[in-house]
Amino acid sequence: MMLREDLKHSLDVLLACSQFKDYCPNGLQVEGKKKIGLILSGVTASLALIEQAIEQKADALLVHHGLFWKNQSGVVTGWMKMRLSQLLAHDINLFAYHLPLDAHPTLGNNAQLAAALGLEQKGHFGEQNLGMIGTSATPLKSLDELVMRVGLALNKAPLVVMPLQFDLRADFKTPLGQAPVIAWCTGGAQGYFESAIQAGAQVFITGEISEPQAHLARECGVVYMACGHHATERGGVRALGEHLAQTHGLEHRFLDLDNPA
Ligand SMILES: [Zn+2]
Repeated sequence: MMLREDLKHSLDVLLACSQFKDYCPNGLQVEGKKKIGLILSGVTASLALIEQAIEQKADALLVHHGLFWKNQSGVVTGWMKMRLSQLLAHDINLFAYHLPLDAHPTLGNNAQLAAALGLEQKGHFGEQNLGMIGTSATPLKSLDELVMRVGLALNKAPLVVMPLQFDLRADFKTPLGQAPVIAWCTGGAQGYFESAIQAGAQVFITGEISEPQAHLARECGVVYMACGHHATERGGVRALGEHLAQTHGLEHRFLDLDNPA
Protein backbone atom coordinates (compact mmCIF):
# COMPACT_ATOMS: atom_id res chain seq x y z
CA MET A 1 0.00 0.00 0.00
CA MET A 2 1.14 3.50 -0.77
CA LEU A 3 -0.47 6.88 -0.25
CA ARG A 4 -1.75 8.48 -3.44
CA GLU A 5 0.16 11.69 -2.79
CA ASP A 6 3.43 9.82 -2.18
CA LEU A 7 3.02 7.86 -5.42
CA LYS A 8 2.19 11.03 -7.32
CA HIS A 9 5.26 12.76 -5.96
CA SER A 10 7.64 9.91 -6.70
CA LEU A 11 6.31 9.53 -10.26
CA ASP A 12 6.52 13.26 -10.95
CA VAL A 13 10.13 13.32 -9.75
CA LEU A 14 11.15 10.08 -11.48
CA LEU A 15 9.80 11.28 -14.83
CA ALA A 16 11.02 14.88 -14.42
CA CYS A 17 7.59 16.20 -15.39
CA SER A 18 8.41 19.85 -14.77
CA GLN A 19 11.03 19.76 -17.55
CA PHE A 20 8.56 19.13 -20.37
CA LYS A 21 6.23 21.37 -22.37
CA ASP A 22 3.29 19.12 -23.08
CA TYR A 23 -0.25 19.43 -24.42
CA CYS A 24 -1.83 17.51 -21.59
CA PRO A 25 -1.55 17.54 -17.80
CA ASN A 26 1.02 15.00 -16.62
CA GLY A 27 0.55 13.28 -13.29
CA LEU A 28 -2.64 12.66 -11.35
CA GLN A 29 -5.48 13.48 -13.77
CA VAL A 30 -8.37 12.07 -11.74
CA GLU A 31 -8.26 11.78 -7.98
CA GLY A 32 -9.48 8.51 -6.51
CA LYS A 33 -8.96 6.66 -3.24
CA LYS A 34 -6.20 7.65 -0.83
CA LYS A 35 -4.35 4.35 -0.55
CA ILE A 36 -3.03 2.46 -3.55
CA GLY A 37 -2.16 -1.24 -3.62
CA LEU A 38 -3.05 -2.49 -7.10
CA ILE A 39 -2.11 -0.56 -10.22
CA LEU A 40 -3.40 -1.48 -13.64
CA SER A 41 -1.46 -0.05 -16.57
CA GLY A 42 -2.28 0.32 -20.25
CA VAL A 43 -1.48 2.60 -23.17
CA THR A 44 -4.72 4.64 -23.18
CA ALA A 45 -7.41 5.48 -20.61
CA SER A 46 -10.12 4.05 -22.84
CA LEU A 47 -13.49 2.94 -21.50
CA ALA A 48 -12.43 -0.69 -22.01
CA LEU A 49 -9.35 -0.20 -19.83
CA ILE A 50 -11.37 1.63 -17.16
CA GLU A 51 -13.87 -1.23 -17.11
CA GLN A 52 -11.01 -3.67 -16.61
CA ALA A 53 -9.74 -1.57 -13.72
CA ILE A 54 -13.19 -1.76 -12.12
CA GLU A 55 -13.44 -5.50 -12.67
CA GLN A 56 -9.98 -6.17 -11.26
CA LYS A 57 -10.60 -3.78 -8.35
CA ALA A 58 -7.56 -1.66 -9.17
CA ASP A 59 -6.86 1.38 -7.00
CA ALA A 60 -5.15 3.26 -9.78
CA LEU A 61 -4.81 3.29 -13.54
CA LEU A 62 -1.44 4.22 -15.02
CA VAL A 63 -1.51 5.25 -18.68
CA HIS A 64 0.46 7.04 -21.40
CA HIS A 65 -2.61 8.69 -22.97
CA GLY A 66 -4.86 10.18 -20.30
CA LEU A 67 -8.25 11.85 -20.64
CA PHE A 68 -7.43 15.52 -21.07
CA TRP A 69 -5.78 17.24 -24.04
CA LYS A 70 -5.35 20.89 -24.99
CA ASN A 71 -7.51 20.77 -28.13
CA GLN A 72 -10.58 19.39 -26.37
CA SER A 73 -13.81 21.36 -25.96
CA GLY A 74 -13.67 20.85 -22.20
CA VAL A 75 -17.24 19.61 -21.84
CA VAL A 76 -18.06 16.38 -20.02
CA THR A 77 -20.50 14.72 -22.40
CA GLY A 78 -20.63 11.50 -24.44
CA TRP A 79 -17.50 9.35 -24.24
CA MET A 80 -15.88 11.71 -21.73
CA LYS A 81 -18.86 11.42 -19.39
CA MET A 82 -18.78 7.63 -19.67
CA ARG A 83 -15.10 7.31 -18.89
CA LEU A 84 -14.95 9.95 -16.19
CA SER A 85 -18.13 8.84 -14.41
CA GLN A 86 -16.84 5.26 -14.21
CA LEU A 87 -13.55 6.38 -12.70
CA LEU A 88 -15.24 8.65 -10.17
CA ALA A 89 -17.97 6.17 -9.26
CA HIS A 90 -15.35 3.54 -8.43
CA ASP A 91 -12.89 5.93 -6.80
CA ILE A 92 -10.07 4.93 -9.16
CA ASN A 93 -7.05 7.21 -9.47
CA LEU A 94 -5.91 8.02 -12.99
CA PHE A 95 -2.22 8.75 -13.47
CA ALA A 96 -1.18 9.79 -16.98
CA TYR A 97 2.34 10.50 -18.22
CA HIS A 98 2.77 11.59 -21.81
CA LEU A 99 6.00 13.20 -23.06
CA PRO A 100 7.85 12.58 -19.76
CA LEU A 101 7.18 8.87 -20.27
CA ASP A 102 8.29 8.96 -23.91
CA ALA A 103 11.58 10.46 -22.89
CA HIS A 104 12.68 8.69 -19.70
CA PRO A 105 16.20 7.33 -20.43
CA THR A 106 15.49 3.75 -19.32
CA LEU A 107 11.77 3.30 -18.62
CA GLY A 108 10.51 5.56 -21.43
CA ASN A 109 8.79 4.49 -24.63
CA ASN A 110 11.77 5.39 -26.80
CA ALA A 111 14.24 3.55 -24.57
CA GLN A 112 11.95 0.52 -24.36
CA LEU A 113 11.46 0.47 -28.13
CA ALA A 114 15.23 0.58 -28.57
CA ALA A 115 15.60 -2.40 -26.25
CA ALA A 116 12.87 -4.33 -28.07
CA LEU A 117 14.41 -3.65 -31.49
CA GLY A 118 18.05 -4.05 -30.49
CA LEU A 119 18.96 -0.43 -31.17
CA GLU A 120 21.83 1.38 -29.55
CA GLN A 121 21.23 5.03 -28.78
CA LYS A 122 24.00 7.51 -29.55
CA GLY A 123 22.16 10.81 -29.29
CA HIS A 124 18.92 12.79 -29.43
CA PHE A 125 17.12 14.80 -32.09
CA GLY A 126 13.94 16.81 -32.55
CA GLU A 127 11.82 19.07 -30.41
CA GLN A 128 12.60 18.81 -26.69
CA ASN A 129 15.20 16.19 -27.63
CA LEU A 130 12.51 13.52 -27.53
CA GLY A 131 13.77 11.52 -30.52
CA MET A 132 16.63 9.06 -30.23
CA ILE A 133 19.24 8.35 -32.87
CA GLY A 134 21.81 5.59 -33.11
CA THR A 135 22.45 2.30 -34.85
CA SER A 136 21.58 -1.34 -34.55
CA ALA A 137 23.40 -2.94 -31.62
CA THR A 138 24.19 -5.94 -33.84
CA PRO A 139 25.17 -5.74 -37.54
CA LEU A 140 22.26 -5.52 -39.99
CA LYS A 141 22.70 -7.30 -43.30
CA SER A 142 19.70 -5.83 -45.04
CA LEU A 143 16.69 -3.65 -44.56
CA ASP A 144 14.59 -6.82 -44.70
CA GLU A 145 16.28 -7.96 -41.53
CA LEU A 146 15.29 -4.77 -39.73
CA VAL A 147 11.71 -4.95 -41.04
CA MET A 148 11.49 -8.52 -39.81
CA ARG A 149 12.96 -7.61 -36.44
CA VAL A 150 10.34 -4.87 -35.99
CA GLY A 151 7.52 -7.19 -37.02
CA LEU A 152 8.60 -9.87 -34.56
CA ALA A 153 9.24 -7.49 -31.66
CA LEU A 154 5.95 -5.61 -32.04
CA ASN A 155 3.85 -8.48 -33.38
CA LYS A 156 2.78 -6.29 -36.27
CA ALA A 157 4.16 -5.76 -39.76
CA PRO A 158 5.33 -2.15 -40.21
CA LEU A 159 4.28 0.04 -43.12
CA VAL A 160 7.54 0.77 -44.95
CA VAL A 161 8.02 3.61 -47.43
CA MET A 162 11.13 3.21 -49.50
CA PRO A 163 13.15 5.99 -51.11
CA LEU A 164 12.89 6.12 -54.92
CA GLN A 165 16.34 4.68 -55.46
CA PHE A 166 16.59 1.90 -52.95
CA ASP A 167 16.92 -1.82 -53.42
CA LEU A 168 15.06 -3.56 -50.61
CA ARG A 169 17.39 -6.54 -50.79
CA ALA A 170 20.57 -4.57 -51.27
CA ASP A 171 23.28 -4.65 -48.71
CA PHE A 172 22.35 -2.12 -46.09
CA LYS A 173 25.57 -0.19 -45.74
CA THR A 174 26.48 3.41 -46.29
CA PRO A 175 29.29 4.22 -48.75
CA LEU A 176 31.60 4.49 -45.75
CA GLY A 177 30.75 0.99 -44.68
CA GLN A 178 29.20 2.13 -41.43
CA ALA A 179 26.09 0.70 -39.87
CA PRO A 180 22.95 2.53 -40.98
CA VAL A 181 21.94 5.52 -38.87
CA ILE A 182 18.52 4.86 -37.37
CA ALA A 183 16.32 7.48 -35.72
CA TRP A 184 13.25 6.58 -33.71
CA CYS A 185 10.45 8.24 -31.78
CA THR A 186 7.38 6.32 -30.66
CA GLY A 187 3.71 7.14 -31.26
CA GLY A 188 2.49 9.95 -33.48
CA ALA A 189 5.92 11.40 -34.24
CA GLN A 190 5.51 11.83 -38.01
CA GLY A 191 6.23 15.54 -37.44
CA TYR A 192 9.72 14.57 -36.29
CA PHE A 193 10.67 13.12 -39.67
CA GLU A 194 12.34 16.24 -41.02
CA SER A 195 14.49 16.69 -37.93
CA ALA A 196 15.46 13.02 -38.18
CA ILE A 197 16.55 13.61 -41.79
CA GLN A 198 18.51 16.68 -40.72
CA ALA A 199 20.15 14.64 -37.97
CA GLY A 200 21.48 12.25 -40.62
CA ALA A 201 19.07 9.33 -40.25
CA GLN A 202 18.91 6.72 -43.02
CA VAL A 203 15.95 4.98 -41.43
CA PHE A 204 13.17 6.59 -39.37
CA ILE A 205 11.06 4.44 -37.07
CA THR A 206 7.87 5.76 -35.48
CA GLY A 207 4.25 4.80 -34.88
CA GLU A 208 2.27 6.73 -37.47
CA ILE A 209 2.64 8.21 -40.92
CA SER A 210 0.73 11.03 -42.63
CA GLU A 211 0.53 11.76 -46.33
CA PRO A 212 3.46 14.22 -46.60
CA GLN A 213 6.01 11.87 -45.04
CA ALA A 214 5.67 9.31 -47.83
CA HIS A 215 6.87 11.92 -50.33
CA LEU A 216 9.66 13.09 -48.05
CA ALA A 217 10.87 9.52 -47.60
CA ARG A 218 10.99 8.98 -51.36
CA GLU A 219 12.60 12.31 -52.13
CA CYS A 220 15.09 12.50 -49.27
CA GLY A 221 16.37 8.95 -49.47
CA VAL A 222 15.35 7.98 -45.96
CA VAL A 223 13.41 4.80 -45.22
CA TYR A 224 10.20 5.46 -43.24
CA MET A 225 8.79 2.75 -41.00
CA ALA A 226 5.35 3.30 -39.44
CA CYS A 227 5.06 0.58 -36.84
CA GLY A 228 1.82 1.48 -35.08
CA HIS A 229 1.13 4.18 -32.50
CA HIS A 230 -0.15 1.69 -29.93
CA ALA A 231 2.42 -0.97 -30.81
CA THR A 232 5.37 1.36 -30.27
CA GLU A 233 4.04 2.78 -27.00
CA ARG A 234 3.33 -0.35 -24.98
CA GLY A 235 6.81 -0.49 -23.50
CA GLY A 236 6.99 2.64 -21.36
CA VAL A 237 3.93 2.31 -19.19
CA ARG A 238 4.60 -1.39 -18.66
CA ALA A 239 8.21 -0.76 -17.62
CA LEU A 240 7.08 2.06 -15.33
CA GLY A 241 4.48 -0.16 -13.65
CA GLU A 242 7.02 -2.93 -13.16
CA HIS A 243 9.44 -0.42 -11.71
CA LEU A 244 6.78 0.72 -9.21
CA ALA A 245 6.09 -2.87 -8.23
CA GLN A 246 9.79 -3.48 -7.58
CA THR A 247 10.60 -0.26 -5.78
CA HIS A 248 7.41 0.34 -3.79
CA GLY A 249 6.07 -3.17 -3.35
CA LEU A 250 2.85 -2.36 -5.19
CA GLU A 251 0.97 -4.91 -7.24
CA HIS A 252 1.04 -4.14 -10.95
CA ARG A 253 -0.72 -5.65 -13.94
CA PHE A 254 -0.19 -4.47 -17.50
CA LEU A 255 -3.11 -4.85 -19.86
CA ASP A 256 -2.54 -4.78 -23.61
CA LEU A 257 -5.92 -3.96 -25.14
CA ASP A 258 -5.31 -4.28 -28.84
CA ASN A 259 -5.50 -1.17 -31.00
CA PRO A 260 -4.88 -1.51 -34.76
CA ALA A 261 -3.79 2.13 -35.08
ZN1 LIG B 1 1.12 8.42 -28.05
